[in-house]
Amino acid sequence: MNNSIIDEIKKLKEEKNAIILAHNYQPKEIQDIADFLGDSLELCIKASEIEDKDLVVFCGVDFMAETAHILNPDKKILIPDIEAECPMAHMLPEEELLKAKEEHPDAGVILYVNSIAEAKQHADTLCTSANAVKIAESLNQDKILFGPDNNLGAHVQEKTDKEIIPVPKGGHCYVHKLFHVEDVELKREQHPNAIVICHPECNMDVQEACDEVLSTGGMLKFIEESENEEFVIGTEIDMITRINSEIPGKKLYPMLEGAICETMKLHTLEKVRDALKNEAPEIKLPSDIASKSLKAVQHMLDASN
Ligand code: SF4
Repeated sequence: MNNSIIDEIKKLKEEKNAIILAHNYQPKEIQDIADFLGDSLELCIKASEIEDKDLVVFCGVDFMAETAHILNPDKKILIPDIEAECPMAHMLPEEELLKAKEEHPDAGVILYVNSIAEAKQHADTLCTSANAVKIAESLNQDKILFGPDNNLGAHVQEKTDKEIIPVPKGGHCYVHKLFHVEDVELKREQHPNAIVICHPECNMDVQEACDEVLSTGGMLKFIEESENEEFVIGTEIDMITRINSEIPGKKLYPMLEGAICETMKLHTLEKVRDALKNEAPEIKLPSDIASKSLKAVQHMLDASN
């Protein structure tokens, strides 16, 4: 059954000159058919380099597909399930950011790429978990409004001399909030030879209890280069699927089996096929919001080089 759908997807992809981009948290069946897999930064860079394609199927959440649209306003950007939204991205509405900017007129504004486009258009720059520290250092201002993820903001605060002002207070990823220091301690007991890694969206006490704090792209690179054989992975569960297929021979243990981003799992092979066939659902933004947001996206891409 899957094989015939995969064949249909391949055929449609060719007919329509399409590319499938997928995030590291996608389920295995989607990872296996993707042309490119990556973390938010890698996907953003890839989305800026697809001049030769007419159609993009984005297997990730809404803000990722929106960013691909901002970078490619003349291409069709499809998302197999339109309900695939990142709850954290919606924690910072445009009005709340504008209010914070009024209260701190001397502050620079960095928004995590996990934010809605209506808010992105008012940012000086964006960042991902892979480049947040570098981006913060690239701004002239000493004071920075940073949102929506408070934990990533705290991580940047710890690594730089900047004053980080979180906006909104309490912005978080519900998946990475599931991890607790007790989980780290338990895994250390069970796997004393493992290096324990978590994502900077985890709470600060969890970050401090781990050996490494890395973006998903950073995890992949670190594990590939490490001579250690065992790792505890503190992020969404399907990151282990990605590492296993890319770097065989390592022993990977999830910090928490239940760390599942539900909306990332909404995409299926059938929905990818249907999106290609119907050229829908399409992600589109009002052109003024897309063009104003492009400035912040571009600043991040330039500063990441
Ligand atoms: S893992 Fe968290 S930040 Fe990433 S898409 Fe899911 S809810 Fe959003």
